[in-house]
Amino acid sequence: MNTEIYSTNPCPVCGETDPDCFRIWFDGHLKLFRCHTCSFISAFPSPGKSSVIYDYSDLYNLDFAKNGQKFMYPERENALTDIAGRIKKIIKTGDLLDVGCGDGQFLYRCSVTGFNCKGVEESKILSDYASKVTKSDVICGKYVKDMFPPQSFDIITLVQVLEHIQDPGNALEAAHYHLRENGIIVIEVPSVNSPHFLAYRLTGLQKFVKNSNGVIYSHVGYHKPKTIMNLTGRHGFVKILLVTGRWQYKYSGFLRLTGRGIDPALNLFGIGGILYMGRKK
Ligand SMILES: [Zn+2]
Repeated sequence: MNTEIYSTNPCPVCGETDPDCFRIWFDGHLKLFRCHTCSFISAFPSPGKSSVIYDYSDLYNLDFAKNGQKFMYPERENALTDIAGRIKKIIKTGDLLDVGCGDGQFLYRCSVTGFNCKGVEESKILSDYASKVTKSDVICGKYVKDMFPPQSFDIITLVQVLEHIQDPGNALEAAHYHLRENGIIVIEVPSVNSPHFLAYRLTGLQKFVKNSNGVIYSHVGYHKPKTIMNLTGRHGFVKILLVTGRWQYKYSGFLRLTGRGIDPALNLFGIGGILYMGRKK
């Protein structure tokens, strides 16, 4: 069940409070708004207007497991292995918390890579499954500050999670509180600078951002490198790396081969999904 609330909060990225700074950016399968102060694109209409809150507690099912799959998105394996490998280059071992761990696919990858893992997941079905399949502690609930004592972890990861959270600043504040000195935060999010959004902006044709591959109902916001830098900087993190694209890890077949050639260019121009790694200040 989803809830509609009237938001009195400022822009979740830059803190803008002036309702005149928010304009409609996309009016199609759903409405997206742009904060003109920081250029964040989101379902957040502006302070004083209503927005929809998604409830993940009873969402999802285990059909993938009935079909013999260990995880829901096996095609994500290369991208997740890439992220775990990049963490390992910075810190060899330590306590890792995966926020919004879903069915536990990334948690499992991190355990195998040698980290001591815990997870948080809103969906009861998925948190039970993740706990069973990864043999890690997985707490069912919304990620909040009072969930763990301060300085409990060396690494906190939010992989394809921040775009679903109504107030990403709260999640980053909690992560900052739960990380030890020099702790690492890892964020992977879809980008408003992805090829389908760029095609839409060039042509105005909504088919480029149809629900299946572009504007997704449960996404609260769409970042670009600038807004991720803004958001993480505001919550006490310093960039270690920010890469975009990573097609060679995300796709198979032709696109994977293409990725090897064009990933450096996608990264140079900030095109495609974003992977950010930062250190607690
Ligand atoms: Zn803003």
